[in-house]
Amino acid sequence: MSRSKPLMAGNWKMYKTPEESARFFEAFLPLVEQSTHCDILICPPFVDIPAAVTAARGSRVAIGGQNLHWKNEGAFTGEVSAPILKAAGCAAVIIGHSERRQYFGETDATVLDRTRAALDAGLLPIVCVGERLEEREAGKTEEVLATQFREGIAPLSPEQFARITIAYEPVWAIGTGKVATPQQAADAHRFLREQARAKYGQEAAANLRILYGGSVKPDNIKGLMAQPELNGVLVGGASLKPEDFALIVNY
Ligand code: PEP
Repeated sequence: MSRSKPLMAGNWKMYKTPEESARFFEAFLPLVEQSTHCDILICPPFVDIPAAVTAARGSRVAIGGQNLHWKNEGAFTGEVSAPILKAAGCAAVIIGHSERRQYFGETDATVLDRTRAALDAGLLPIVCVGERLEEREAGKTEEVLATQFREGIAPLSPEQFARITIAYEPVWAIGTGKVATPQQAADAHRFLREQARAKYGQEAAANLRILYGGSVKPDNIKGLMAQPELNGVLVGGASLKPEDFALIVNY
């Protein structure tokens, strides 16, 4: 996946069986055959990954995981590691999604461990950051983003940092239908890029791909992608329907 193109990524969360995944690709692939302007990624539930990899083979669509453990293997019941995802055909993995932070105790420290594990296995980590509603209302958005960047990302070496993508996902916009305005998204992206510049320098910051996520739909994608600060999107609900996600990909 190249940095020069936007990345349009779908997070299916805990939706779709393997059979439903295969049916999605039957409908979706013809709709994005010509979509060479962007990279496309779908992150299905773990057990759907083999069906998705098979269905997407030979297409422009890459497959990713939604989470991973930071150890390569071990007695960690219910977990999946970076080498397992890689061997299953994944190219990328979402890390630190707000639902992982909210319901499964994900912290900036474990985000960092998982990111390092993904990089060691040759996966593209998509590291999620974003403020909760009460934090935005208290004027703490930048403080929260700065902390998440400092604790979960900045300990990476410059070489590691060059191989990650960040997703800015304001928690109040995820699954709520309340999309951030293009301006709010661009402001947060600019702030994150400034954090990257301060730590890793101008070139690394300029090369960093930052996605926006939070209630992205076919009817708001144009306005969001019109912001040069946005280098793609991470889409939940609207990535489940082939027609909707294709409209987003082909904005
Ligand atoms: C997400 O799951 O990352 C997400 C942004 O969800 P939605 O698009 O449904 O808000």
